[in-house]
Amino acid sequence: MNLAVWVERHGRRRPHDPALADGDRVHAGWGVFAARTAGAAAGLRADLGLSPGNRVAIVMRNRPEYLEALFAIWHAGLVAVPVNARLHRDEVGYILEHSESAIVVTDDDHAGDVESLVGTVASLQAAVVAPGERWDRLTASSPAPLVGRQPEDPAWLFYTSGTTGRPKGATLTHRNLLTMALSYFADIDPVMPQDCILHAAPLSHGSGLYGLPHVARGAVSVVPQSGGVDGDEIAALLRRWPGMSFFAAPTMVKRLAGDRAVAAADLSHLKTIIYGGAPMYLADLEDALAVFGPRLAQIYGQGETPMTITALSKADHADRNHPRWRDRLQSVGVPRTDVEVRVVDEHGDLPVGEVGEVVVQGDVVMAGYWKEPDATAEALREGWLHTGDVGSFDADGYLTLRDRSKDLIISGGMNIYPREVEEALLRHPGVRAAAVVGRPDPEWGEAVVAFVVAADGTTPPPVADLDRTCLDHIARFKRPKDYRFVDALPTNNYGKVVKRELRDRLRAEAEESGPH
Ligand code: AMP
Repeated sequence: MNLAVWVERHGRRRPHDPALADGDRVHAGWGVFAARTAGAAAGLRADLGLSPGNRVAIVMRNRPEYLEALFAIWHAGLVAVPVNARLHRDEVGYILEHSESAIVVTDDDHAGDVESLVGTVASLQAAVVAPGERWDRLTASSPAPLVGRQPEDPAWLFYTSGTTGRPKGATLTHRNLLTMALSYFADIDPVMPQDCILHAAPLSHGSGLYGLPHVARGAVSVVPQSGGVDGDEIAALLRRWPGMSFFAAPTMVKRLAGDRAVAAADLSHLKTIIYGGAPMYLADLEDALAVFGPRLAQIYGQGETPMTITALSKADHADRNHPRWRDRLQSVGVPRTDVEVRVVDEHGDLPVGEVGEVVVQGDVVMAGYWKEPDATAEALREGWLHTGDVGSFDADGYLTLRDRSKDLIISGGMNIYPREVEEALLRHPGVRAAAVVGRPDPEWGEAVVAFVVAADGTTPPPVADLDRTCLDHIARFKRPKDYRFVDALPTNNYGKVVKRELRDRLRAEAEESGPH
C-alpha cells in the first residue's frame, strides 16, 4: 500500500474540507491538495525523469508545500529524504550525497545553499523551489495515477539527529509508517476529520511523522507562519482550529508552559501535546501538567522505530491518585500495541527492576540503515532492534530509561546514570538546566562532572548547596566531583544536549594540563 492513497481518497470524498492551513488561513482543501500532489507526482516523473525508488530530498522550513512535496514524492513511488533545514550546508550536502538524491525540493530561505550543491553532489540534478513558479508548474501537471508500492518499499530515509558521528539514514518503509500511524490511534488518541495537527516542531522529524495519522484520518495540517514554536501564535491558532494536537520536544513543552500567552489562553481546543525524543525531567513535567492539564502524552521512540517503543498515556498523566503516579511520570510508559519490548543483557532477558539494553521488535522497526550494512547488522540482531538505550521494567510493565548506554558513567566500578544526577540537580531552584558526563579519572576510572546553567542565567548556586541537594536525593558516590557553570548547554538542531561536546571539552582540558 502507498501512503499517498490517503490524500487521494480524502480528495475525492471531502474535496472542500480544509486539508492544509498556513496559520489561520486555509492553504488547500483536500481536493486541491490531492490534485497538487498527483500533478507534482506526474511532473517529477515526466519533467524531471525520475522513476519509482529514486530519492527526492526536502530541505525547507515548515510550510504547507512541505506536505505537498512529501505526498507527491510518495504518489510517484519515490522515496522522500526529509532533511533538517537547520543543518549546515555541508551537513545537508552529506545527506544528499549519501542518499543519492536526484532532486531536492527547497524554499527561498534555503535555495542559495541548496542550489550551490547541484554540481557538487554527483547524483543531484536540480533544486526546485516551493512555493515558486517551477513548483506551481509541476503541481499543475495533469495528475498521474498513484504508483503501487509494496509494504517493504522504502518511503522515508530518516537521517538520525547525529548526537554522535555521521548521521545514518534509517530506511522506513510504507509498512513501518502505516504501523506507526495505526498505533497512534491504538495508544495515543483517536483522530477525527475535524481535528488538526499543528506543526510547531520540524516536519523533517517528529512532527512530520505524527502528521501521518492525521492525514490518514483527514484532519487539518496547520503550519504556524513563524515555522516554529511561538506562544502568542499558538494561543491565537488555538482559537481558530479546534481539536488541536502537536508534537513537541521536552524543552519546547517547558518553554510553552512558562509562556504568558499560553498560560492565559483558552485551552478548550487543545487536545493533546505529544512530547518525547529526550528526557522530560519530573519538575518540568509537573509544571507543564499544572498549565496544560491532562493533555500530555509521552512517547519514546527512535528514528529506527519511528516514534514507537513505549508511551505514557494521557490517562497515566492524569492518574494523580495512583500510589506510583510520580514513578510513572518518570518512566516512558508501557510498550506500544504494535511492538514487543525487552530489556536484555548478553545472556538474555533481565528480571523486573534490572537495568539492561532496550530491544524492540515489530512492523514499525526500520528495514536497516541506508547503504550501511555494518551499522545495520550491529543495530538489527536476530530480528531485534538494539536501541542503545538502557532501562528497566517495573512489575506493572512501565519502562524507565536510565540513559543512552554510551552516556553511562562508570566510577569506582559503580554504574552511574547521568539522568539521575541531573534530576537531582534540577530540584535546586537555582538550576535551569544540567548535563552530567564522565571525565577520565586515574583513580576512579571516570569522575562525574556536572555542567550547570543557573536559573537566572548568571548567578550560579553555591557548590555546597548543589552537593547538599544531591546528597538529599541520590547516593553519595553519584554526586558530581566537579561543577562547571555555563551560559548554555550545547544542543543539536532538535534541541538535544550533545554530551559528546561536553566530554570533548573535558578531554581537551585534561590534555592541556596533563603530564608532559
Ligand atoms: P532520535 O532517533 O533522534 O529521535 O533519538 C532517539 C533517542 O532519543 C532514543 O534512543 C532515546 O535515547 C531518546 N528518547 C526518545 N524518546 C525519549 C523519551 N521519551 N525519554 C527519554 N529519552 C528519549
